[in-house]
Amino acid sequence: MSQSPGGMSEFHWLIEVLQTVDIGIVVLDLDYNITAWNGFIENNSGVDSADAIGRSLFDVFSELSEQWFKHKAETVIQLRNRAFTTWEQRPYVFKFKNTRPVTGMTPFMYQNTTFIPVIGPAGEVQNLAIIVYDVSDTAISKIELKGANDQLAQLSRTDGLTQLLNRGHWEELLEAEFMRQQRKVRDMSLVMLDIDHFKEINDNYGHQTGDEVLRAVAKLLQENSRASDYYGRYGGEEFALLLRDSDTQSAMQFAERLRETVEQTSFHTAQGEIKLTISLGVAGWSDQLADHRAWMKVADQALYQSKNAGRNQITLAGTGQA
Ligand code: GH3
Ligand code: MG
Ligand code: MG
Repeated sequence: MSQSPGGMSEFHWLIEVLQTVDIGIVVLDLDYNITAWNGFIENNSGVDSADAIGRSLFDVFSELSEQWFKHKAETVIQLRNRAFTTWEQRPYVFKFKNTRPVTGMTPFMYQNTTFIPVIGPAGEVQNLAIIVYDVSDTAISKIELKGANDQLAQLSRTDGLTQLLNRGHWEELLEAEFMRQQRKVRDMSLVMLDIDHFKEINDNYGHQTGDEVLRAVAKLLQENSRASDYYGRYGGEEFALLLRDSDTQSAMQFAERLRETVEQTSFHTAQGEIKLTISLGVAGWSDQLADHRAWMKVADQALYQSKNAGRNQITLAGTGQA
């Protein structure tokens, strides 16, 4: 340590170790003046030991929150007990540069610290020691892993082309809603829709333009959606919507609005303006439905009827009525 060991030569080796160890040590008196620190702190702070000893900790580390630090330190001194901070609660206590060359990702060193009361011969707390561990490697890999996991979870839920919920995830949500519905009844409706003669769009303008159109239709659906609704891309150019607060009547109104909007829209693509229509099937929730699959089947059959009846129309399941 950068303090004279007072001629106790048997301590020389110990001081040597503390000086060079890969852990930071700062010793304070009870007025928060620096009494001693080791090479780790000196190197990382860039402050010469000779300039630091005897000075207030908060002068040397001006970015350190005095209020937070004192609160922590006072608890340690009063309770005569150790205390810890982790990088997850507070990324660092002392703002040091990150010295790990691998990651350009964070400019500072993540730290865990331990606050230790140093008890004197009379049994009183004489000093406060803070031990600083560089945990940048662990922290960064944890953060990166979490980022990758979040991305994966996101990917597995959304359809790559349209960013709507993908079929698997949409169906999971539908199933969950269906299970809930058996306890508490609310008005829910299912809408299945399919683009009419979509194959012709691919054939006439190319698959890429087909993709462009699919994205545009998905966007249009989203613009007409409510936050409570679940929108999924169910198949190639089929979409499934769960309207979580609509009885069949308002679902039919919604479906009609959507049908008209699509009919009236000119989709701008690199190949020019494209017009199209959609066919829809609507099915309200009923306690006669065995499960969510049965519900989907009923909505799908209604859609099929719309197709058969000439497309660009809506069928309400169970009634055959357009
Ligand atoms: P219908 O009115 O009976 O629905 O006629 P349709 O031509 O739309 O027939 P169908 O629904 O059977 O055909 C869907 C077509 O959509 C076939 C397939 O090539 C195309 N398709 C499916 N997925 C994609 C996709 O991701 N991108 C593009 N560009 N086309 C797709
Ligand atoms: Mg189609
Ligand atoms: Mg289809």
